[in-house]
Amino acid sequence: MDTEGRFAEKTTLHIRSLSATSPAMRAMYDYDPEHENIPADTERDLLLEKVAPPVFGVVRKFDGRLLVLLSYTCAAHCRYCERQDRVGVGLDRRGRLTTGQLDDVIDYIRSDESITEVIASGGDPLTHPRGLEYLFGALREVEHVKVLRIHTRFPLQTPRQVDVDLMGRLATCKTTVFLSLHVDQPDELTPEVVDLIGRFRGQGYILISQSVFLKGVNDDVETLATLFGELFFLGVRPYYIYHCQRIETTARFEMEFDDEIKIMSTLRERLSGLAYPQHVLDLPGARGKVVVPSEHWDFDHSRTRDFDGRELSTDTWQVTTAGEQQP
Ligand code: SF4
Repeated sequence: MDTEGRFAEKTTLHIRSLSATSPAMRAMYDYDPEHENIPADTERDLLLEKVAPPVFGVVRKFDGRLLVLLSYTCAAHCRYCERQDRVGVGLDRRGRLTTGQLDDVIDYIRSDESITEVIASGGDPLTHPRGLEYLFGALREVEHVKVLRIHTRFPLQTPRQVDVDLMGRLATCKTTVFLSLHVDQPDELTPEVVDLIGRFRGQGYILISQSVFLKGVNDDVETLATLFGELFFLGVRPYYIYHCQRIETTARFEMEFDDEIKIMSTLRERLSGLAYPQHVLDLPGARGKVVVPSEHWDFDHSRTRDFDGRELSTDTWQVTTAGEQQP
């Protein structure tokens, strides 16, 4: 079919080989024409990431932290991607940040001493290795930047294409460099991936993971207990598990919020605290990730408040009351 303007199917040899035996891998990567035969809405700005950036290619939502969207390309396309309005379509046509655009980003970081943490994201920053090394090399000299972070799914999607030497150089750009791996299913932790994780540890990275609750992929206690337990044993600290963002093409993956809370409550009783991630809502149209309490607390699941004090319904994800005026 013609997938022009759509978030097209894209996989790797590694994913295709796992998909032969793993229904979860197929659910994560197989294009589903029944639900996805819709052009991507490139105007959508679910997480306020397109609001007038100070320079092209960055997102500035919080003091102290800067997200750099180095590349709008990924090794493969996850069907539940919340950035599918940019990855593979829309902004992806502009590809990776050019050296000139990176110079603007670096100048911006240099000029703002409040920026202490820089997060390389995308798309996937490992699809732009030269740009990543250029950015991190420049930030090595910027005293006020204390922490660098790389957020990637590339090693899970095509482990043999990871440039291990480059990863070693990036790990030494600052004293503290975090490597955040996006992992959703134990089937992704193949021997090749486990080997890579061991190498990353040896290179000095602080390893964390991020996951998304996905119907048909990891929607039960046993799957997630296995995933978080294995990551923990490998030296990867599970950091966040998100509620899947609600957009038309990803609706089939969205779990009942109450089911997620039940699963997390059971996991809290089973897992070591170090293997237990924060369950978070990245609130649509709002600022900030809010942490969801477990059932060990009595609370009203139907409403939450964003960082600006506005109340949102967890049924519709719409703002229901205005918040406090921010200073
Ligand atoms: S790797 Fe991340 S940005 Fe790329 S398609 Fe998957 S979820 Fe989206």
